[in-house]
Amino acid sequence: MSPAKSVILVTGGSGLVGKAIQWVVENDSKYGGREGEEWVYLTSKDGNLIDPAATKAIFEKYRPTHVIHLAAKVGGLFGNMAANLDYFRDNLLINDNVLHNAKEFGVKKVVSCLSTCIFPDKTSYPIDETMVHQGPPHDSNYGYSHSKRMVDVMNRAYNQQYGCNFTSVIPTNVFGPHDNFHLVNSHVIPGLIHKCYLAQENGTPFIMAGTGRPLRQFIYSRDLAKLFIWTLREYQEITPLILSVPEEEEVSIKQVGDSIVKAMGYTGDYRFDTSKADGQYKKTASNKKLMSLNPDFQFTPFDVALNETVEWFKENVDTIRK
Ligand code: NDP
Repeated sequence: MSPAKSVILVTGGSGLVGKAIQWVVENDSKYGGREGEEWVYLTSKDGNLIDPAATKAIFEKYRPTHVIHLAAKVGGLFGNMAANLDYFRDNLLINDNVLHNAKEFGVKKVVSCLSTCIFPDKTSYPIDETMVHQGPPHDSNYGYSHSKRMVDVMNRAYNQQYGCNFTSVIPTNVFGPHDNFHLVNSHVIPGLIHKCYLAQENGTPFIMAGTGRPLRQFIYSRDLAKLFIWTLREYQEITPLILSVPEEEEVSIKQVGDSIVKAMGYTGDYRFDTSKADGQYKKTASNKKLMSLNPDFQFTPFDVALNETVEWFKENVDTIRK
C-alpha cells in the first residue's frame, strides 16, 4: 500500500526561513521531502493571511494535512517601537486565521514560529521553555512579542477543546541565504555583511558599532529548517521547543565581524566604534530540551554557515532584499 498523501503548507515560504525549508526539502537526504509528500510554499501573493476570507480560500485550495506557519509581520527595532499596535494586531489576525482554518480543515499538525524576543525582559539565564509567560517582554516590541505568546495560548486551548495537535518552536537569531540585507532594517549578520561588502567595493573603512563584546546564539537557516521538519515529524508536545545552538556556541559580535571580514576577503581598515552603545550583553537560551529529544543533531559550524551566506550574498547581490 502506498503511504497516504500529505500536503504540507508552509506560510511565509518566500522568507529567510521558508526558503531554507524549501532548500532542505529539495536537497537533504535525511530531512528532505519523502514519497507521498507535497510541499506548498506560500507568499503574500497567494493571499493576505490578515484577511479571513483569503486565508480560508488558501486552505480550500490546498487542503493541507500539515502546516508550518512562518508568515508574520516582522520588522526592525524602530519599526516595532513606532507601531506596536500594528505588529500586535496584524500578527494576532494572521495567527488566528491560520490556526482557525487549520482546525476547521482538520489539519493533523501545525508548527508555528515564535521568537526568543517573547521571553520576559527581566529573567535569569539560560532562558528555557518554562519561562515564556513569566513576566513582560521587552518594552520596545511588546506588540509583536505578545502576539507571538498568544500562539502558545491558542495551541493549548485548541488542544484542550478540540484535541488539535498544534505546537510551536522558538528559534534564536537566524541567518542565511535569502535574508533581508538592508543596512538599517535588518538583523545583525545580514546588515554587517552588506556593510562590509560596501566597504570593500568603495575602499572605505568597515566600522562596527559598539565594543564587539556582546554574545549571541546564531542559528543557520538551513539547520533551523532541518529542525522545523524534524519537529513536524517527531515532536509530540503542544508546549514550545527552543531551537538553538548550545550555550557554548554563543559567539561575540567581534567574532561575527572577524568571520565576515575573512569570508568577504576584506583587507581594508576594520575597527570598532566604542562610542556607540552595545545591546544587551547576552540573552543565552538553553537547547537542553531539544538535545534530549534529538541528541544526534549536528549544527553547521558558524564559520562554514557564514561563508555559505556570504557566497550567496555575493552571487545574488543585484537581486536580493537590501
Ligand atoms: P521574512 O521577513 O524573511 O519572511 C516573512 C514571510 O511572511 C514572507 O514569506 C512574507 O511574504 C510572509 N508574510 C508576511 N506578511 C504576510 C501576510 N500578511 N500574508 C501572507 N504572508 C505574509 O521572515 P523570516 O523568514 O525571517 O521569519 C519567519 C518566521 O521566523 C517569523 O514568524 C519570525 O517571527 C520568526 N523568527 C525569525 C527570526 C530571524 O532571525 N529572522 C528569529 C526568530 C523568529 P512575502 O515575501 O510575499 O512578503
